[in-house]
Amino acid sequence: MTAPLFAPREHDVARVALPVPIDRLFDYAVPAALSASARPGCRVRVRLRRRLVSGVIVERGAGSDFRGRLAPIEQLIDPEPVLSPALLGVLREAAIECLCPIGLALAAALPAGSAPRSARGFQLTPRGQQALASAGLAEPARGLLARLARGPATAAALRREAAGPGGKLDDSLQDLLRDGLIAARQLERAPRAQAASERVASLAPGVTAEAALAGVRAPAQAALLARIARAGSLPVRELEREQPGAAARLRALAARGLLELGRRPAPRDVLGERGPAEPPPALTPEQSDAVKEIADAIRAQRCERFLLHGVTGSGKTEVYLHAIAEALAQGRQALVLVPEITLTHQILARLRGRFGDGLAVLHSGLSPGERLEQWQRLRAGATPIAVGARSALFAPLEKLGVIVIDEEHDGAYKNEEGFRYHARELAGRRAAAAACPLVLGSATPSLESRFAADRGRLRRLVLARRIGDRPLPAVTIVDLVRERELSPRGRRVVLSGALERALRETLAGGGQSILLLNRRGFSTQVFCFACGAAERCQHCDIALVYHATAQQLRCHYCDFQIPPPERCSQCGAPDTSLLGTGTERLEEELRARLPEARIARLDRDAAQQRGYTARVLRELRERRLDVLIGTQMVAKGHDFPGVQLVGVVLADVGLHLPDFRAAERTFQLLTQVAGRAGRDRAPGRVIVQTYAPGHPAIRPVRDHDYESFYAEELGQRAALGYPPFGRLVQAIVQSADAAAALAGAQALALAAAAPDGPEVLGPAPAPIARLRGKHRFQLLLKGADPERLHAAARRVVEATGQLPRGVQASVDAFPVNML
Ligand code: ADP
Ligand code: ZN
Repeated sequence: MTAPLFAPREHDVARVALPVPIDRLFDYAVPAALSASARPGCRVRVRLRRRLVSGVIVERGAGSDFRGRLAPIEQLIDPEPVLSPALLGVLREAAIECLCPIGLALAAALPAGSAPRSARGFQLTPRGQQALASAGLAEPARGLLARLARGPATAAALRREAAGPGGKLDDSLQDLLRDGLIAARQLERAPRAQAASERVASLAPGVTAEAALAGVRAPAQAALLARIARAGSLPVRELEREQPGAAARLRALAARGLLELGRRPAPRDVLGERGPAEPPPALTPEQSDAVKEIADAIRAQRCERFLLHGVTGSGKTEVYLHAIAEALAQGRQALVLVPEITLTHQILARLRGRFGDGLAVLHSGLSPGERLEQWQRLRAGATPIAVGARSALFAPLEKLGVIVIDEEHDGAYKNEEGFRYHARELAGRRAAAAACPLVLGSATPSLESRFAADRGRLRRLVLARRIGDRPLPAVTIVDLVRERELSPRGRRVVLSGALERALRETLAGGGQSILLLNRRGFSTQVFCFACGAAERCQHCDIALVYHATAQQLRCHYCDFQIPPPERCSQCGAPDTSLLGTGTERLEEELRARLPEARIARLDRDAAQQRGYTARVLRELRERRLDVLIGTQMVAKGHDFPGVQLVGVVLADVGLHLPDFRAAERTFQLLTQVAGRAGRDRAPGRVIVQTYAPGHPAIRPVRDHDYESFYAEELGQRAALGYPPFGRLVQAIVQSADAAAALAGAQALALAAAAPDGPEVLGPAPAPIARLRGKHRFQLLLKGADPERLHAAARRVVEATGQLPRGVQASVDAFPVNML
């Protein structure tokens, strides 16, 4: 079993990335037989310690610095590279930038579960064979040996096959191992992801239709042959459906050498509904200008980055479709990223309506097998368009003509686990490597992208008007402080008079309403019901979080602490309290007040149910719902013509999350949800309820005034050195033992510190201070010099290797969701 070892200097070497948390490449000898085919980008099976693992060849070279003797590549998985040199290059740079071990980054870019794997198993030894032959062996030992006499098996398989209790079985396996009757062994297993295929019949090679037909007399067989000869090859299942009994006849014909039976890929249909195949509308002048710029870059194969900044309903999607059509016309391919497929399936339907079935979709809602099928279709060049969530950025497209990122501001483009890349940032690299333009589209661009446009790193293309010059919906901001004064006994208000009236009017007129109820807020901010301010850190301008046990307000960035004030520090009013969202009350209140309305609710909890989201959205589109209540899920890029009213129950909730992007997210959310109203002929209106009508993230929503929000927010960011002026790196340390977690975070802070290094904030409790029984502490590095920041972050990553057992840390070089 032991593989021959090779002296490193003499050999052709492959440097392989393995899916282990060690940031280096591993050298293996390339057997002569594989010398030509084992290219960078191919996956291989190699031995790491005693296990067989799947990795990716990153480099080939002569000789190695490795001082031992090299193990050989055991098996070449892919005859052709699965990662192109361009994509491999992009991933290598990204892995460094994201502080991710290269092997984990490459594994994240390939379809999950598509590589062979191995598992611990057992085989019968000669002594076991003898023991089996002799009498006097008790169950379950006898049964186990008898099973292994038929071939090696994994423990899981043995457990599955044995009817008895599992615990006893394991003991008995241990006994057999100890007595040398069985031996442990690594067993190769099929990949978890399997592409579906179907059986097809075709004429055997060299057999002509005439020759085949001349050879058969039975009319049913002749009919089959004629049908197959005409079509080239046909699925057996289809033939059986047409002519019951066909399968048996096909086998008979194959046995006579007239037919050949084989298999071919039969990818399952995951594309969803198809939009109407209408001809493209004539573009508006704004749209044509944008399309012209992008199309020029596509034709010139120039990596130019565009920010398509268009108000909601201004026809951005139509611009994407034209850009894609141009790429296809140039014989190139297109990659389209959307934040979440379930919430943005309309774009998929429109793509399918325009381009037919020439698209592949990649997202986490598919089974591993389905994803593999889609990936294989792309790789085989069967479809020129890939659409998907963030991981589709790694789609195997070798002739990219354009990359589109819709709703580029969306936090879903950030991968929060393992390889913590930001798809928007990586898309820039991929576009550069492919020499194609990148189009970032949004009605509410991220501060980073809008700022990059100011600095000339992105070219901004503006769509200022809605299609058909439809007005943007009229936005009314309802001041809940006033509303409360007006309400009897100063009760906190869930539905203001204005919002309730508007709901009734819309219902009476046959229109639909969306009510946004953003529950992601904590009820842990001390909030002033007189002026709408929440207590904030003096140093970080981040909302302080109330810790009940310590009875302190704490900053989750720098750990500044104060006792909860008796009066609001902004306006002096005594009316401060924890911010409860009163959400449970909303649905109840709504049902009581509008008993005749058809009401549904959409949030993460409800969306756990498979198909629920799609069903509710379909009901809304088909006008079988009057009011949809939901979290930020309802704000995404839907286009529902019947929606005339959008109500925001409490706009303040998201403002007081301990995240420096809280204001940006709030403005984006409110503007996006407002954009859902009045997309058809009937004008839309929006009612925003808030305790802080003058807040810079809320006030500009009334006039759909992105630019004034941007200017003010940019000033805030500059004052505190937050992105886009500096960058943050976030480390989270967690442990079941709070003191150990804190000590670990302190050790990392020490590692980060350097005289000319970035500012080190914390350790402080992480915004989610406890998660699944673990105490969590956060450390932030803040700096304007990317190289020094990166160097400090690397020191932190190295220090994570020294943490004691039971303490885990993760480091994020581009934190987006800071909770
Ligand atoms: P956005 O993506 O900016 O929100 P869409 O691309 O969804 O906007 O366009 C809004 C609506 O206008 C869609 O129903 C779309 O089909 C339609 N539309 C887009 N461009 C045109 C056009 N040039 N002429 C007519 N209708 C258009
Ligand atoms: Zn602070």
